[in-house]
Amino acid sequence: MQYYSTGRKSATVSLKEAVTKGLAADGGLYMPVSLPDLSSSFFERSSGMSLQEIAFEVAHAYLGEDVPANIISDIINSSLNFPIPLNEVEPGIFSLELYHGPTLAFKDVGARFMSRLLAYLHRGENRALNVIVATSGDTGSAVAAGFHNVQGINVFVLFPKGKVSQLQQKQITTWGDNIYSIEVDGSFDDCQKLAKQMLGDAHMNSSLLLTSANSINIARLIPQSFYYYYARALLSDSRLPTVFSVPSGNFGNLTGGLMAKSTGLPVNRFIAATNINDVFREYLSTGVYRSRPSRQTISNAMDVGDPSNFARIMELMGSDISNFRRGLVSYSFTDEETSDSIKKVFTETGYIMDPHGAVAYRGLKQYLSEHKEGVSSVFLETAHPAKFPETMLNIVGAGHELPARLQEVINKQESYHEAGNDPDELKDYIIGVNS
Ligand SMILES: *Cc1c(COP(=O)(O)O)cnc(C)c1O
Repeated sequence: MQYYSTGRKSATVSLKEAVTKGLAADGGLYMPVSLPDLSSSFFERSSGMSLQEIAFEVAHAYLGEDVPANIISDIINSSLNFPIPLNEVEPGIFSLELYHGPTLAFKDVGARFMSRLLAYLHRGENRALNVIVATSGDTGSAVAAGFHNVQGINVFVLFPKGKVSQLQQKQITTWGDNIYSIEVDGSFDDCQKLAKQMLGDAHMNSSLLLTSANSINIARLIPQSFYYYYARALLSDSRLPTVFSVPSGNFGNLTGGLMAKSTGLPVNRFIAATNINDVFREYLSTGVYRSRPSRQTISNAMDVGDPSNFARIMELMGSDISNFRRGLVSYSFTDEETSDSIKKVFTETGYIMDPHGAVAYRGLKQYLSEHKEGVSSVFLETAHPAKFPETMLNIVGAGHELPARLQEVINKQESYHEAGNDPDELKDYIIGVNS
């Protein structure tokens, strides 16, 4: 399969080049030249299939020309080695829990798959591959966990100073070995901008191999479509069309869902649920895309003011605003509304949502109050509530156990490089590590 750039100025490239470059030379994002057409028999059969079986069929449809089936199978089985349960929280409202991986956020799905695919594609090369990743909280640790001690690969994690939770910071900065964490004096958008500057820098590219592990990398998006098929398979006895509510920041999760729909998955609507960083909602209502600086919220992994996957969604929608409006709705909520939903659901059902999943839950409730047609309704729960102890304590009170994986990390020693907000200083640091 070839991959084209959404910038449309760079030539199409192979899978290896798309994944090991991350970003195209024209600044665009890579997309497969054609999305596979999964047969209706796949959707019929899938109701009896496991997560790994479904993931294999989808991955094979994308990657089968480039990666041997036994390697695809190994990648799936070693990366998706945790469950993704679908939990009925209220009658007819399902939570798809994507947070049972090693770092307790949905980023584990894409990051683990990507690290293994990248290691396969990079095999036999004699230079190190440098993975640059900007994080608003969860990506950094998932990528670090996925790549820790992978031979021939260095990982540079850029996180915004003082804007990730204490636990998230511990999960980013305590790896050592081939994982280099870097504190940026700025917002997530600044981290993302610096990462793009590194990837696009001619001097750096002439001496180093560089790629991105953010959702600008297509290797993260393909796996982020697996669980939409799986959720649908778990629900399939209802025969109703499905609505998915997706808590969105950089829109990589939602793009995975839209890709699944483009391959034939019967989805009625996607709800793009955001916090007050609502450029997407504004785009749907005005038809004008206006990026702006992100503002800090309790759903911090969604504090994004210029979502990078917008370019991909444009492609999937044929750049036509009426297609956007047919397939998608968007709602945004304040921290107070998010907290209220967490508290209400906890009081009424005992189910604890994290601040990201709660935004999606609230989006789903709003959608259902405005649209009366019969649908099966799923919201994506993207992080374990225990990742946000300070916030959760304020809302649902004490007494909720910290999972063992988080308990361990608390006692580890942090180490990170302070890079200010200066691309030249960061370049020197990365070059230094490589020399
Ligand atoms: C990254 C993240 C999101 C946002 O996902 P995008 O793909 O960037 O839209 C939502 N929730 C959590 C917990 C995250 O870590």
